[in-house]
Amino acid sequence: MDCKVNLIIHGSLNDFLEPANKTNSVEYKYGLSLSVKDAIEAIGIPHPEVGLILIGDLSVDFSYLLRDGETIEVYPHLNHPSVGTDKVLPFLPDGKASFILDVHLGRLAHYLRIAGFDSLYYPKDPGDSHIAQIAEAENRIVLTRDMGLLKRSAVSYGHWLRNTESRAQFREVVHYYNLRKDFNPFSRCVKCNGLIKRVEKASIEEFLPHGIKRDFNEFYQCSHCGQIYWQGSHYKGLSEFLESF
Ligand SMILES: [Zn+2]
Repeated sequence: MDCKVNLIIHGSLNDFLEPANKTNSVEYKYGLSLSVKDAIEAIGIPHPEVGLILIGDLSVDFSYLLRDGETIEVYPHLNHPSVGTDKVLPFLPDGKASFILDVHLGRLAHYLRIAGFDSLYYPKDPGDSHIAQIAEAENRIVLTRDMGLLKRSAVSYGHWLRNTESRAQFREVVHYYNLRKDFNPFSRCVKCNGLIKRVEKASIEEFLPHGIKRDFNEFYQCSHCGQIYWQGSHYKGLSEFLESF
């Protein structure tokens, strides 16, 4: 027997619909018992982007089984009706936001690390299933332009980047997760994600190019890979970029 439901799609979730469905209202037909999560993903929306599902006044979770003829309202995390925090779907892991990025987002990982956010990124593609496993094991937010990666069931937290340019992507992530208050600039190594600490000049002097040794006295070093940092011209440009928020 064919059953059908009507899905009303709100706000930014419309970015995922086929052009023919961009009327905010999608009739979805199904034959067998089906969860609301499967129906939402079948029309193109990755589940981590969904913030609230309402059937009438009742909020339901992803495991809710569809009933023939009902109307389901699907909202993004930002801009949904205000309901109790126990009614909304997972958005941010507990504690400070940490990320894992897919192989195409090296520049975005660079900016997130400069702002001080724990951001895993592998220049050599570890594969979607590996990224999803680490995200699940370490409660990390997946950032990607790959909708298939976000639809993996191991991924609870994630965002599909609308922008393609890295600085615009960084602004998008800062706005989406409201990160400005948690900036801790230049506390993390851009090369390896390790934490950076102040070091005495004498302890690293032998590794410095002559001009740097002459012109700078304050140095920092990654506690993981040993990379040495100082406040050169690159630092000034990036400080100005972070201060623009
Ligand atoms: Zn490092």
